[in-house]
This record gives sequence, structure tokens and C-alpha cells, in this order.
Amino acid sequence: MNYPETKLPKVGTTIFTQMSQLAAQHNALDLSQGFPDFDGPTALLDAVGHHISSGANQYAPMAGVPALREAIAEKVSRFYGGHYCAEREITITSGATEALFAAISAVVRTGDEVIMFDPAYDSYEPAVEINGGTTVRLQLSAPHFKVDWQAVRDAITAKTRLIILNSPHNPTGTTLTQHDLDTLADMLADTDILVLSDEVYEHIVFDGEQHQSVAGHEALRERSFVVSSFGKTYHITGWKVGYCLAPAALSAELRKVHQYLTFAISTPMQLAIADYMADAPNYGFELPAFYQQKRDLFCRLMASSRFELLPTQGTYFQLVDYRAIKDVPDIEFCQWLIEHAGVVAIPISVFYQTPPDTRIVRFCFAKGEATLKAAAERLVNL
Ligand code: PMP
Ligand code: GLN
Repeated sequence: MNYPETKLPKVGTTIFTQMSQLAAQHNALDLSQGFPDFDGPTALLDAVGHHISSGANQYAPMAGVPALREAIAEKVSRFYGGHYCAEREITITSGATEALFAAISAVVRTGDEVIMFDPAYDSYEPAVEINGGTTVRLQLSAPHFKVDWQAVRDAITAKTRLIILNSPHNPTGTTLTQHDLDTLADMLADTDILVLSDEVYEHIVFDGEQHQSVAGHEALRERSFVVSSFGKTYHITGWKVGYCLAPAALSAELRKVHQYLTFAISTPMQLAIADYMADAPNYGFELPAFYQQKRDLFCRLMASSRFELLPTQGTYFQLVDYRAIKDVPDIEFCQWLIEHAGVVAIPISVFYQTPPDTRIVRFCFAKGEATLKAAAERLVNL
């Protein structure tokens, strides 16, 4: 028989899977895929066992367990001053990945244009394209990767349905300011353009900076989906629990997709997170210092290397320019790095539609001190 032509011709195996496989094959130190090599808080882990043995083993409500949605409403209000109704405006999803896919599927139609910024997280474009939309990719430039709002204004057409933001930004570590959000809000004021704000690293910001959430922006909130992930916040990426905040009308559309994509998310995990959020309400305030200590340690250890470190304001990623070591494209450099130093990085060219001629790779510093020290020791010798 003839199988149908692929609906996603540009999609192959993600760079994260490729690099994790190479790391395992070469027994290399893995600073590639973004996940911590340490566990989340013990009380959170223990709470899952408690809920499983207490019988919380059947389907959760489609939109998420009420206690978790209420805990999120309370958190968002305390951190950003944005008020979301737990019943109608907060939906628990299978990680941020499902929230992003469901939000895009809920609003993007054939012929729609979606503006996003390169380098862009790899899940956005396939979600747009499988729904018949096209992406308009605007490039952020090294070393600061700031948005050029005039370029955004110029890119808006009658077909623009959605703009995707990501702050703190993976892979560059840059953040959006209040002024950025105000500029966007003014630009969109007389339009029906929607915003999808990927804020999975909302609690990983450095040097005393405050995360500027679209959830706390009065003018943007009414047109926005705001997505986050407990995986990043509580070091539990494998649990795949995330959420989406959106006004009731947008949440209703998102839930139509969520209802048939996953229907509901693991009950004991949701209950455990809800308990932990109630018991440790200030956790999100403490996380920046935890990760800043790791960023500073990694940067200090790398200071004597021939890598040039780019500024990182948030996320648990550090970009480095390697041109003083080897002048080859980044994918080739990553392969060389595995073979010659036994360390795995992520090439950033894969996050661009048209990769610029830079020599930059991404390291993940969400690792224990011993791993960071061992990796840096290998890297400074290059
Ligand atoms: N968005 C960004 C920017 C990410 O880095 C990630 C990484 N995991 C995700 C979304 C997906 O989050 P989750 O693992 O909760 O699906
Ligand atoms: N967000 C993670 C990263 O950027 C990867 C998640 C995944 O493997 N899809 O490394």
C-alpha cells in the first residue's frame, strides 16, 4: 500500500533525543537536554505515595483537580497580581508541551500566520503547521537576543493570528521587560491578535530581576494563553504536569482540545503538587538563588576556558561562543566535543529557520556540583 505523505515533512527526531542518546553511547557528561540531575523536594515526592495509597488513583477532573487549580490561582495572584478563576480560567495539562499544542490547535486555522522568535523552542512550529498555519520567524541577535519591536510591527499582516513569546527564553536565557510587554500591548491594542506566552522558566531569573509575566499584564491578559510547567519549578520534568492560564473564552476553546488530547492528568501527581504548593508557598521566591548559585559556579569554573560566556538572565541554560577553540558549525562542534571532551551540549542552529553564521552552543547547568566541576575541568582543557 501507499502510506500517506507526511504531514510534518520538516520534523525528525528532536535534538534533545539525539544528544541524550549520544551522551549515553559515549558515557559522556550530559549538559545537553534541559533537566536536573537531582530530585525535587522530598515532601513533594512523599506526597505522591501518600495519595496513591489513599486511593487517589482514578481519573482527575478534565480541567485538573480543584485544589491544584486553586493553588495556582493563589500563586499567580501573589507573584504577579493577575487574577484567574480556578474554575474557568486554569487548566492542568500534560506538561507545558500539551498546553502549547492545545493552545495553538485551539486558535490557529489554515492560512493563519504565527509570529515567533528565533532561536525558538522546537515544539512551536510543528504545532502551527499541523493546524494549517505558517510561522513568521523573526531573528533575535547575539549576544543579547532582544526583540526588535519594529520588526514585529512590520511582520504583522491581516493573517496574523498569534504571537508566541518565551521568557525567560530557551535557549538564550534572555528575558522580556515590562517595557517589552507594554510595547507589545500598545501594538496589539486595536487588533484581535492573540498571544501565547511560554513562561516555563518563570521562577528561574537572576541578579534580582523580577519575572514579567503576561499573567500580570492588564492589557495583554485578555488576549493571552500563559503556559508554565511544574517540571522546571520542582525538578520533576518526568512527571509532565503543566498548566495554562487564559480568559474563560480562550480556556473553553483550549479545553475542547485538551479534552480529546489527554482528557485528564495523573491524579496523585496533581494532588501532591497542590499539597506542596500549600505547604511551601514561598518556594518560587527561593528558586532564583538556588539556580543563580549554579550559574555562578559554572561561569566561575569556565572563566579560564577559551569559551566566551554570553549573558544569561534566566533559565538553566548558558550559551557559550566556542570560536576560539574550533571554527566549525555547531552540530559538528557538538560531535567533536563529545568525542574529545566527553561533554554533551546542544547546538542552537536547530532552533532557527535560517541559522546565522555564529559559533554558539548551549550548556544546561541544572546539575549537581560534582557534574558541573567534572564537566568544566574537561572544558577548560580545550
Ligand atoms: N517550553 C520551553 C521553552 C521548554 O524549555 C520546555 C522544556 N521542557 C517546554 C516548553 C516543555 O515543558 P514540559 O516538559 O513541561 O512539557
Ligand atoms: N526543554 C528541554 C530542553 O530545552 C527539552 C525537553 C524535551 O526533550 N522535549 O532541553
